[in-house]
Amino acid sequence: MNSPLPLAGGEEPRSGEGVGLNLNESHPPPAPLPQAVGGDLALYVHWPFCVSKCPYCDFNSHVRAEIDQQAWQEALLADLAHEAQLLPGRKLTSIFFGGGTPSLMSPSTVEALIASATSLWQSAQDIEITLEANPNSVEAERFADLAAAGVNRLSLGIQSFDDEALRFLGRAHSAAEGFRALEIAQASFPRVSFDLIYALPGETEERWEATLGRALSLGTTHLSLYQLTIEPGTRFATMVSRRDFETLDADEAAALYELTDTLTSSAGLPAYEISNHARPGHESRHNLTYWRYGDYAGIGPGAHGRRLGMRTVRHRKPENFLSALARNGHGIAEEAALSPTEAADEALVMGLRLAKGIDVEPVLRRFGVPIVDWSRVDRLVGSGHLTRDATRIRTTREGRLLLDSILGEIAAVEPTLAVAS
Ligand code: SF4
Repeated sequence: MNSPLPLAGGEEPRSGEGVGLNLNESHPPPAPLPQAVGGDLALYVHWPFCVSKCPYCDFNSHVRAEIDQQAWQEALLADLAHEAQLLPGRKLTSIFFGGGTPSLMSPSTVEALIASATSLWQSAQDIEITLEANPNSVEAERFADLAAAGVNRLSLGIQSFDDEALRFLGRAHSAAEGFRALEIAQASFPRVSFDLIYALPGETEERWEATLGRALSLGTTHLSLYQLTIEPGTRFATMVSRRDFETLDADEAAALYELTDTLTSSAGLPAYEISNHARPGHESRHNLTYWRYGDYAGIGPGAHGRRLGMRTVRHRKPENFLSALARNGHGIAEEAALSPTEAADEALVMGLRLAKGIDVEPVLRRFGVPIVDWSRVDRLVGSGHLTRDATRIRTTREGRLLLDSILGEIAAVEPTLAVAS
């Protein structure tokens, strides 16, 4: 995955492996919770390999000297078939290939997975099929094949237009390769988005304004703009503890966030989620499924899913995933029913990330438990951090900078899902 934001994909790296429900034992199935999104379904496919490990990255990504593409194709197809058998009759609205670096997948595997998913489920006419790619020249050479395989949206991990910043971020591509890959992508796919990482050490408002101005001039209708965050266990975390570099302070980072909001809004690509910007109608439909708390199947190492009131987690380590598949016919490490309170809590955490906020009423109807404490919501409306109408709550720009603490403040129960901003 290209972004430093762990909650954006079907991969949530916080869970341990091999704990929870043992799927080889027989247990009575938990009662399913009611579904919010009719028969719609999104599919997340995790490809766990990268050519090298970026020092800020805490995603489930692994470097291996050799990858048996055929074995992985078979494994992912089998994992997909397992999910499809548990989710009959659904309409597939999106597929998202994330990672890792899914542009390193053989295009024939991508094609086989798309063909299988769209035959196992009914495919929406306007199905969105996104693949994350890194912009080095070898990967860009595959774009035409990936488009022919059925991918209709590319999300490119450009991260910076500056070679020095790219070296600092440990990226395996240059700024020139980034621009070239973007050109090839725009010629190959109907929809293209790219990621940038900002709030790097020493980054000034002037410098970020110039970078963002350039990004907005490149003609894509979607941008993902992430602030650098230092995640525990990464090489950057060690470097910060050794004082090899200093991150921006909270005020400097907030000023850059506000500048981002202003510039993208005036260019017609306002934030529709904390870090995601699009022209109206060009939002990522796949990610909207997460934020609206719809069902999604997650396959591949470390992938998370939410289906029929259950949370599912696959084995993270590629070798463990393959042996689980050989043993059980699927790669699931944990599967557990969410209580109505947990599910309502997750819906709040996800929904408040959206610029449109969350309508609390349908969540209350769906799960039958209170989701927010209205007196606390009103207090935060008074302080300028939230706005609300009858049942919909939104964060203001100031509120978005304090999302974690706002969630802790307004939830009717203590939130259990961490949020990165
Ligand atoms: S390319 Fe870098 S940031 Fe993306 S998943 Fe691989 S190691 Fe992580």
